[in-house]
Amino acid sequence: MTADLPEEFYLSSKLFMARYPFVSGAKDYVAKYWGSTVEELSRSWHSGAVDAAVRRVVESIIRGEDVGEVRVSEDLDVEILSFPIALMTVASLGDRWLAKRWALHESRRVERLLSDEQDGTVLRVLREELGINCGVAESSEEERKGGQPFRIRLPEYLRLVKGIDGTEWRLVNRNVHDGWVYVSRRELIRLAAEEVESRILKRVVEVGQPKVPDELVPHLEAIKRVVLERAARREPYGGFKGEESWPPCMRALKHALLSGGKVGHFGNFAIATFLLSIGYTVEEVIGVYSQRADFDVKIARYQTEHIAGLRGSRTKYSVPSCQTMRTHNLCIEQGRLCPAKIRNPRQFARLMRGRPRGTGEVGKGEVT
Ligand code: SF4
Repeated sequence: MTADLPEEFYLSSKLFMARYPFVSGAKDYVAKYWGSTVEELSRSWHSGAVDAAVRRVVESIIRGEDVGEVRVSEDLDVEILSFPIALMTVASLGDRWLAKRWALHESRRVERLLSDEQDGTVLRVLREELGINCGVAESSEEERKGGQPFRIRLPEYLRLVKGIDGTEWRLVNRNVHDGWVYVSRRELIRLAAEEVESRILKRVVEVGQPKVPDELVPHLEAIKRVVLERAARREPYGGFKGEESWPPCMRALKHALLSGGKVGHFGNFAIATFLLSIGYTVEEVIGVYSQRADFDVKIARYQTEHIAGLRGSRTKYSVPSCQTMRTHNLCIEQGRLCPAKIRNPRQFARLMRGRPRGTGEVGKGEVT
């Protein structure tokens, strides 16, 4: 797709903006022709872009991080404009799960598109558009870079890698020299996707919950229905794998696990039962434990399979009650952060969903 255009033209082309609608050029382009606030965008309504925006959002709900084959509309204006309209749509619904889901989907889309680009374009997007300090590994670094062709500054690597599971990402398994971490091209692009995801989420929060034009209301209702249908098909107890819907005690346990803090036998047991109850597979639970410096795959597998009821007495263990969690000093702030009715951590997501949503701070209404 990019081979037809010399790089200097491609980077300032509408095709580039359509593929990466978060870039500064795309923002300027939208602001120039349609405006940068919800009101301005609404005034210069473009129905093709609205349909494309709704498709973007619905696809993210249905597919999550599975983006499949990425298609870019032939009408590049529609493609460029659909991004800020989708952003406005997601923000106006004020649903944190939807915002995360959409940001995740968009970031994986960018990851897929970047994979098709030449190295120069990848570096340009990362450095100039995403502000990531990275580059090509110097040939003189051949020995220490371990065959990895790119490098990224250590603090940025540590910040971006937080959301990625897998032992290969742990610093102890990386080549690090003089403040640089050496990575493959695929890894560099994966880290960029993390940055895109967090930037999109940040924009959704900044936009607040804007009042949208009447024409968009039927689309919002349709999107809400898709979200509800999706919720009905989620894991047992209406829980999500996404940590944002976890109770504070389980978040604290996972954080302690990943940061090498002391979790203790009961804490390990509690988090494993919880993860299994919200739909994690045994392998995924082991994947969480694998982040620890003292990880032993045999022990982790034995214990997890035991808790899942795949060994020994074949008893599948339940998530400990809040009362039991309190007895082991694992309840956070005596449950003050949780719904009053809660009796078990696995009820958290369901009970929280029934709570009235806070309006949150409303942003300036700028979408691009
Ligand atoms: S009240 Fe229950 S769910 Fe909430 S933090 Fe305490 S143990 Fe966890």
